Amino acid sequence: MTNTVEKVNLLGMGLESMQAFFTETLGEKRFRAVQVLKWIHHRGVDNFDDMTDVSKALRDKLKLVAEIIPPEVTFKKYSKDGTRKWVMQMPGGSAVETVYIPEGDRGTLCVSSQIGCALDCSFCSTGKQGFNRDLSSAEIIGQLWVAARSWDEPGKKRDRHVTNVVMMGMGEPLLNFDNVVESMNLMMEDNAYGLSKRRVTLSTSGVVPAIYELAKVTDVSLALSLHAPNDALRNELVPINKKYGIEETLKAVNTYFDRLPDKRVCTIEYTMIDQVNDHPELAHELAEVLKNTPNKINLIPFNPFPNSGYERPSNNRIHRFRDILQKAGYNVTIRKTRGEDIDAACGQLIGQVNDKTKRSVRFIDAVELGHTAATVASKRTNRNTI
Ligand code: SAH
Ligand code: SF4
Repeated sequence: MTNTVEKVNLLGMGLESMQAFFTETLGEKRFRAVQVLKWIHHRGVDNFDDMTDVSKALRDKLKLVAEIIPPEVTFKKYSKDGTRKWVMQMPGGSAVETVYIPEGDRGTLCVSSQIGCALDCSFCSTGKQGFNRDLSSAEIIGQLWVAARSWDEPGKKRDRHVTNVVMMGMGEPLLNFDNVVESMNLMMEDNAYGLSKRRVTLSTSGVVPAIYELAKVTDVSLALSLHAPNDALRNELVPINKKYGIEETLKAVNTYFDRLPDKRVCTIEYTMIDQVNDHPELAHELAEVLKNTPNKINLIPFNPFPNSGYERPSNNRIHRFRDILQKAGYNVTIRKTRGEDIDAACGQLIGQVNDKTKRSVRFIDAVELGHTAATVASKRTNRNTI
């Protein structure tokens, strides 16, 4: 009789889980956890036999119960400007995108937390595809594992290319709380990627109770996707606002930052949509609304996608909006559009979702026109592959 044991994927295990695995499950010494973590994340190893300072007996034992399974990369493109994009196929038929954007001495990796998203923000292509499932911690950290390994050269010591991670790919990270926290811990763990808490940023559309929970377990940096200065407009753009309004959301954000000993501030993301939320009077209103929340504002020009029904504002309109906020004393940046030659702009990762839940009206329109997100995505992939 064959005994099939479900093997555990060590890729997504944080230090504590790994220590528990070695001591409690395997009856081995605790220090083995650090050894194995380093092999997996410092050196990008996914084969126990490569772990040369682990005894043959232990490697054989590990092979029986554990495995290291990274996400399957089905498409990758490295652009001339240094931007890199990967499409990773996840079990179940859906895919997520991960993007690397270099800028000066920084390299930012934009990581996905879910396949699709249930929150259905009106301007977001991920939201238009509905929700499929949460990513496991292995699938989340696996995106960084794949990216970090993409620069490796045989025999050479690793350079650090990824200096920052932003959870701004597909999905709402706070709705996949435990897996996101476990993988962010690995990003910050010295025996894994060793990024500082200032360089790991979770972006949320404002899942208020989870912001309070997050404050209890981590001190990563936080970005809030605000996109509107009043509830009437935000209700339209970010439907979760109907549940947690702006005042309540900013209060949670203030609580998150108040307890931090350093002077970090919240990044306020504001996707600028032509004639929708880019009016000068809204900039004045935003200046008023944010006056009690230490912040820096990042204006993100809307990234068009088929059948979105929205457009990107002119540079004039974007600059005017920025100038009003700057005159009011705010630190404002406008996100540069990068990696356009590989459709890699962070915050608009189309992926390919097998929608298991709802489809929005706009998306149904698209389907009737014969342009499903999936066909659009596969056309894009084909074009890119040629
Ligand atoms: N769910 C999280 C994180 C993923 S979205 C959140 O909403 O914050 C990451 C950022 O990209 C968000 O600020 C989001 O509003 C923005 N974004 C989504 N679609 C966009 C588009 N089409 N153009 C520009 N920014 C977009
Ligand atoms: Fe989800 Fe964020 Fe897109 Fe809104 S903007 S639908 S929360 S991924």
